[in-house]
Amino acid sequence: MRFSFILLGGGDSNRFKSNIPKQYHKIVKKTLIDISIDKIRKFKEFKKIVLVYNKKHKRYLKTVNLKNVKLIQGGNNRRESTFNALKYLNKNNSLGKVLIHDAARPNFSSALIKKIFNNSKKFRAIIPVLRLQDALKKKKKNKILNLKRDSFFLTQTPQCFDVSEIYQLHKKNKNEYNDDDYSLISDKKNIKLINGEKKNIKVTDREDLNLLKNFYSSKLRVGIGFDVHRLVVGKKLYLGGIKIPSKLGTLGHSDGDPVLHAIIDAILGACSMGDIGEKFSDKNKKFKNISSTILFKEVIEQVNKKNNIINNIDINIITETPKLKKYKKKIAYNISSLCGILPENVNIKAKTTEKLGVIGVEKAIAAEVIMTIVKHD
Ligand code: ZN
Repeated sequence: MRFSFILLGGGDSNRFKSNIPKQYHKIVKKTLIDISIDKIRKFKEFKKIVLVYNKKHKRYLKTVNLKNVKLIQGGNNRRESTFNALKYLNKNNSLGKVLIHDAARPNFSSALIKKIFNNSKKFRAIIPVLRLQDALKKKKKNKILNLKRDSFFLTQTPQCFDVSEIYQLHKKNKNEYNDDDYSLISDKKNIKLINGEKKNIKVTDREDLNLLKNFYSSKLRVGIGFDVHRLVVGKKLYLGGIKIPSKLGTLGHSDGDPVLHAIIDAILGACSMGDIGEKFSDKNKKFKNISSTILFKEVIEQVNKKNNIINNIDINIITETPKLKKYKKKIAYNISSLCGILPENVNIKAKTTEKLGVIGVEKAIAAEVIMTIVKHD
């Protein structure tokens, strides 16, 4: 079955009280809009993704990954915005089913999408709902009345409809309803209510955004890495992908960059993906004298593909020579750009061993790394 996805990002965030509209706020480097769209991109069933935006927010669109996303300008309210997107789908023969979703609700699971798919053959509309857990009261004049909460429920998104049917209903019911599901319910069509998700909160104010941030930081994973190379005369010295002027360089199968190697191990550790030796064996001629930057980029690509986002990296470079004070910033900057993160999230400390041991007598250089990664769904 063909599916389209409409993401409603046209709200003006009046209740949010921030210069940046809420849907363009970032959680671990992704805007709320990107978090939803990236989850949808994983399903090949979606043939079209439509983002409805607010014309006042045009300048924020450049912060979003719009690859294969159709932009539609929103209307004066949610219903008008939905209608604009449905009109586009209808005009372009993108029939079949559509999931309509609020950009302020990025924390839905892939399991929920699968559940909707599974029900979509049998039902004409699928609505995720939550039952009420708190007691429900009503204020009437000076009295507070108890209501029976069993007969109430809360609706969430994404909600699934037949494109042509919901389009026709919208056309017919102009100005009448705020939400899509209500117009269908009044028509008493074949609707399936499925269990929604408590974590799929709608970000309305700062507190909601903080709740969401806490949810993601609870998914933080830590990785540790260590590497050591011999220092010899007549070899080059690369640290964090930067060539450092030095009388001594590193011996290694590749270019022997202990910093990039230790970070690779830390990344693989945080993602439970093994170690550098398994990925790039020093028995393999392919990697002989290879630039560690190439290996590093390959690892970053692999972990990003699995939706792992590097949060921060802390590095100790342990050596007696050369002195690294003036290169620390340059190395950190290079690492941050290789990882696609801000320089402020990479920290480098240059250490010695007070002339003790192999490092102290300038026979070796070592690097140790600790880092955190956050996995988006
Ligand atoms: Zn190494």
